[in-house]
Amino acid sequence: MNEFEFLDCLRRQTDSRRHSTRLLTGIGDDASVISESGNRDLVVTTDLLVEGVDFYLDAAPAHLLGHKALAVSLSDIAAMGARPFWTFLSIGMPRERWEDQFKDEFFNGCLALADHFGVTLSGGDVSETRTGIVIDSIVLGEVNSGAAVKRSGARAGDQIFVTGRLGGAAAGLKLIENGARVRSPAVTERNSNEPQAGITAGASRTDGDSIQSLVRRQLRPDPRTGWGIVLGEQQLASAMIDLSDGLSSDLHHLCRESNVGASIDAASIPLDDDVKRLCGRRALDPLALALHGGEDFELLFTVSPGNVGRLPKKVDGVIISQIGTITNEARAVRVLEKGREWELQPKGFVHFRS
Ligand code: ADP
Ligand code: MG
Repeated sequence: MNEFEFLDCLRRQTDSRRHSTRLLTGIGDDASVISESGNRDLVVTTDLLVEGVDFYLDAAPAHLLGHKALAVSLSDIAAMGARPFWTFLSIGMPRERWEDQFKDEFFNGCLALADHFGVTLSGGDVSETRTGIVIDSIVLGEVNSGAAVKRSGARAGDQIFVTGRLGGAAAGLKLIENGARVRSPAVTERNSNEPQAGITAGASRTDGDSIQSLVRRQLRPDPRTGWGIVLGEQQLASAMIDLSDGLSSDLHHLCRESNVGASIDAASIPLDDDVKRLCGRRALDPLALALHGGEDFELLFTVSPGNVGRLPKKVDGVIISQIGTITNEARAVRVLEKGREWELQPKGFVHFRS
């Protein structure tokens, strides 16, 4: 039984055991939605990062790990169209990590990102482990009552969009697995919400610059908090999910929850410039990385035809691209590529793949 099959079982068990009508959305979306008093709903998410599975300590400097631990949960809050306010961070580590600089650098990275989005570290827990680091990051945010953007709201005819560019994080992971390492803290600290040109641009850009940019896409994801807030508060998106497992899997999750299908135009998928530049030459298919590679933490969302004209071109300097259309053929996801049509299988990341 894989992760998603288990979660389906758990969801069926909990759906019949709702002890409060205030739980508006439970298991099965990017975050849970709980009705608060007044005109606000609380949006809550939790994410686990495990050493050796979700990150390699020799490749992930502690301050970047702190950034990523918070970023992945902020991404889930953005995927609900919510504004983040509070975080709770729990960490377990072996004694050696406690006694070196790890914990201070980890929380420096985490707090820098929290400050950037006005999020307050409000609690957590610390434990000693026998081996390896385990991190649990919880983020709470808010939306106006009933305004949370769920995975289930897509309708046939809605247009499908993604923020930013895809494939960079998966390419970065492959580079790390082949020994690439992030160059220096000073370089990694810049806000990569800005154009992904990296360290140098244009003709003077070297392979080394592209490698650094891709490694950073893997180790230091930028949550699309600004886009999430705009799409939620202006009620522009009919459904949304963040790209954590990979476009092919996450689009399937969205279609399944909405009971719709999708038709994607391969040529419209925005490929990361450095992926195109490096991977094309190294026999790695940029389109496959964009479709099946995980952890880009971009937002995938649908917009009804009447709302498409209201979409801003950019938020925080981040573009969006229309990549396809929702169809009424339940759960069938098709890709149009060079005049050919093929069915897209979910091949993104799954824990306990059977
Ligand atoms: P995401 O990739 O957006 O973080 P996940 O795939 O981790 O989402 O989880 C999918 C859904 O399953 C979410 O609603 C999440 O809260 C729920 N979920 C995951 N693990 C558990 C668990 N151990 N107990 C209850 N719900 C869980
Ligand atoms: Mg998610």
